[in-house]
Amino acid sequence: MCGVAGVFGVQHAEAQVAEILFAIQHRGQESCGIATRNPRGNITSYKAMGLVKNVLVEEVLARNAGDVSIGHVRYPTAGSSDIANSQPHAIDLAEGPHMAICSNGDIINYGEMRGWLEREAGFTFKSDNDAELIGRLIAYHHVVQREPIEDAIRKTQQELKGAFATLVILRDRMFAFRDPHGIRPLVMGHLDFQGDGAPPSEGTVFASECCGFGIIGARRLREVAPGEILCLSRGQPVTTVSVVPKRKRHCVFELIYFSRPDSEAFGERVYDVREKIGACLAAKDADIPGGDDLVVMPVPDSSNFVALGYAAAKGARFSMGLLRNHYVGRTFIKPSQKSRDEGVRQKFNPLPGFFPGKRVVLVDDSIVRGTSLRKIVRMVKTAGAREVHVRIGSPRVIGSCYYGIDTPTRNELIANRMSVAETADYLTADSLRYMEIPDFDRVLASRDDFCFACFDLDYIYPPEQFGLKTNVPGGRE
Ligand code: SF4
Repeated sequence: MCGVAGVFGVQHAEAQVAEILFAIQHRGQESCGIATRNPRGNITSYKAMGLVKNVLVEEVLARNAGDVSIGHVRYPTAGSSDIANSQPHAIDLAEGPHMAICSNGDIINYGEMRGWLEREAGFTFKSDNDAELIGRLIAYHHVVQREPIEDAIRKTQQELKGAFATLVILRDRMFAFRDPHGIRPLVMGHLDFQGDGAPPSEGTVFASECCGFGIIGARRLREVAPGEILCLSRGQPVTTVSVVPKRKRHCVFELIYFSRPDSEAFGERVYDVREKIGACLAAKDADIPGGDDLVVMPVPDSSNFVALGYAAAKGARFSMGLLRNHYVGRTFIKPSQKSRDEGVRQKFNPLPGFFPGKRVVLVDDSIVRGTSLRKIVRMVKTAGAREVHVRIGSPRVIGSCYYGIDTPTRNELIANRMSVAETADYLTADSLRYMEIPDFDRVLASRDDFCFACFDLDYIYPPEQFGLKTNVPGGRE
C-alpha cells in the first residue's frame, strides 16, 4: 500500500502536497517524494528514503516550487525498498523529463508489459516499480505511436491489469485516473487558496484519502470513478476524458485496516464501518456475560473504532489498556519479520495495575501470521488478565493480495496452517472469533462492490494465469 497526493492550480502546490502526504503517512513510511511543474514549465522532482517530515523539508520544497505538484509515500509491495523504486518517477517523453507519475497499487501483468516495452520500443527501465511501467507505457503510445496524450493514457489504462490510482503531470496538464475496478481509492477535492501574500486562487486536489484535505482547507468533492480519466488544464474546468468501468471491486481491507478513521472511502465513512464491525462481533458474543470485570480493548490504533462499536453494542466498558508508542511505525508495513517483531515489543505497553482480575475482549483488525498478536495476548495475560477473548474485525486471511497490499504467501498465513481452535491455542487466547464475509452485508451498503479475495480467493485476475506466486495452502482451510 502506498499513498498519492496531487494539487493543481494554486501557488505553492508543492507545500500543499507535502501537507497531504504527511496526513497519509500511515500508507507508507519507507520513502516519499514530490514532483512539481515550476513557473517556467519544467518539471522538477525529489525523492528520498524516510518520512515526509524529514524528506520534504523547506529547502526541498523551495527547490520544487510551482503551481502543479504530485507526491507519493511508499511502502514496498513489488520491488525492493530503495530509492530507485521510490516515486514519483520522471519520464523522458522527448528531450528531457516532461512527465512525472506516481501511483498506488500493483500491476499484475507487469512482467508481460515490461518485457513487451523493452523488446518493442527498446525502453530501458530504471526501477522495478509499477508506476514507471505505467509512465513508460503512456510514453510508448504518445511518443512512439504518436497518439494524443489522452488516447495514450486511455490505451494504457485498458492494457494494464491490476490496481492503480495514478497521478500524472505534464508541462501543460495533469491527469488523474484509476483502474476500471476501482480497487484502490482516489478522491478529488476543491481548494480555495489564500496563502502567504499570494492572490487568492482556486485549485483541485487529489489524494488516496481525504483525511489530509482539511489541513490545507480543501473540501472533498467526489471519488475519481473506477475506470475514469480526468484531465486538468489551466483555466479550464476539470474534464472527464473517459470512464470505462468494470464491476466494482474496492479493497475492503482499506476500510478494515489501512485507511484513517477520519477518511471516507468507496462511499463509506471508515470509522462508521469499523463501529458497525464491532457491533456485529458483539452480536455474536452472547456467550460472554457482561459485568464490571469485563473490558473491551483494542490493539491500537486501527482497531480503536471496532472496539468502540463492540463495547457500545455490548454495554461493556471500553478501555485503552494497551498504550502505543507512536514513534514506532505500523508493524504490518515493516518489510521484514525481524523488524515487525522488534516493532511489537517497542510499540505496546500494558497499563500498570489495570489488568489483574479482568476479563478482556481484545479486538484486532486482522490476523496475518499471528506472531504479533500472540505477543500481545501474552503481554496482557502476564499483566494479570484472567481471560483474554480475541475478536477480529476481518474474516480469516487465507490468500495473498496482488493489488497493492503486502500480505505474505499463503503458506505463511496462520489461517492456512491452523484451524480457528488451533489459532486460539497458539495465541494463548481463551476464545477467538472473526468477522465472516456475509456479516459485511450488515456493514457495507453493497458487499458485492468489494474485493474479499484475501478472505475467499475470489480474485479479479486469477493469480495462476499471470504467473504469480501463490503457494498451495499447507494445511486446513
Ligand atoms: S485481496 Fe484483500 S487486500 Fe487485496 S485488494 Fe482484495 S481485499 Fe484488498
